[in-house]
Amino acid sequence: MTDIVSSQTDMKFSGFSCTSKGRALETAEYDPKTLKDLDVEIAISHCGICHSDIHLIDNDWGNSVYPFIPGHEIIGQVRALGRSVKHLNIGDRVGVGWQCGVCFICDLCTSGYENLCPDSQPTCVGRNGGYANGIRVDSRFAFPIPSALSSENAAPLLCGGITVYSPFREYDIKPKDKVAIVGVGGLGHLAVQFANAMGCEVTAISHSADKEDEAKSLGAHRFINSSNAFLMSQANDSFDFVLSTVSVDVDWQKCLDLLSPNGTLCFVGASPTQISVRLMDVIMGQKRVAGSGIGSPHRIKEMFSFAARHDIQSMTELYPIGQVNEALDRIREGKVRYRAVLEMR
Ligand SMILES: [Zn+2]
Ligand SMILES: [Zn+2]
Repeated sequence: MTDIVSSQTDMKFSGFSCTSKGRALETAEYDPKTLKDLDVEIAISHCGICHSDIHLIDNDWGNSVYPFIPGHEIIGQVRALGRSVKHLNIGDRVGVGWQCGVCFICDLCTSGYENLCPDSQPTCVGRNGGYANGIRVDSRFAFPIPSALSSENAAPLLCGGITVYSPFREYDIKPKDKVAIVGVGGLGHLAVQFANAMGCEVTAISHSADKEDEAKSLGAHRFINSSNAFLMSQANDSFDFVLSTVSVDVDWQKCLDLLSPNGTLCFVGASPTQISVRLMDVIMGQKRVAGSGIGSPHRIKEMFSFAARHDIQSMTELYPIGQVNEALDRIREGKVRYRAVLEMR
């Protein structure tokens, strides 16, 4: 057992803690932070495992603070309210994603880009996240979950879902647009569904030929096996929007070539090395190379109502919280199709 926070409260939380870089998680009991006026306390029922949790466990980004409880795709019921919380009630089912706090006053926050606030507070960096039985968090980052969505399927939408939904809105993708989703995995399988529901013509691109049937069942109208150079070159100049969801190195020039003039190549997956494309193609084709990270609280609420209306479902593998290390291992081995979700039982 690891004692991981020492503030004075009367009730301990319990969860699974990462005590140092790359280590298997261990059970831990800890004192939650003080419940402030605008906070809620959530009894967690489910928490998705996002690949970012593994990056934090491994300190890949150099910002991990040990020990900590990972988890930022949190779903549960409101168990206690700070005295100023008016928009939530005890028993409401809510979700918390990557972000749990911002300054609320900078130009980005006041123009609806809280996700870009320089004072953004990540849910499980320097604080404890959702692989636990409870969390206290700013109520402005606890979003009601529509009743049409199950907790298991909704949890991955809090990070994976908003990550792929937001760029469609940010880059103004229209129903007439031709869209390619690069990668059919944890992010890509959601992106295909969102793009189809928005009315786009959707092409899934993957190096795994065995994903064709699944991609089509999720809403892809076409499938391109990216290992087939001929099929890839046939698709040149044909997409308004190419969304890259992969986190491996790909021939980015080939992806840029897929765009028609005025098209946008947007990254939501981070490849390990720098990208390289011919700038003259960007200039003369008036193409955009862009990025997108999570989404604002407003966008998250919008994404949930869209997902409920259009029956967007994460494909999940459900694990009891006690098997968290087994679940993490399966993700590391690339075996999970497509999101692992922990259940607090
Ligand atoms: Zn701000
Ligand atoms: Zn995430």
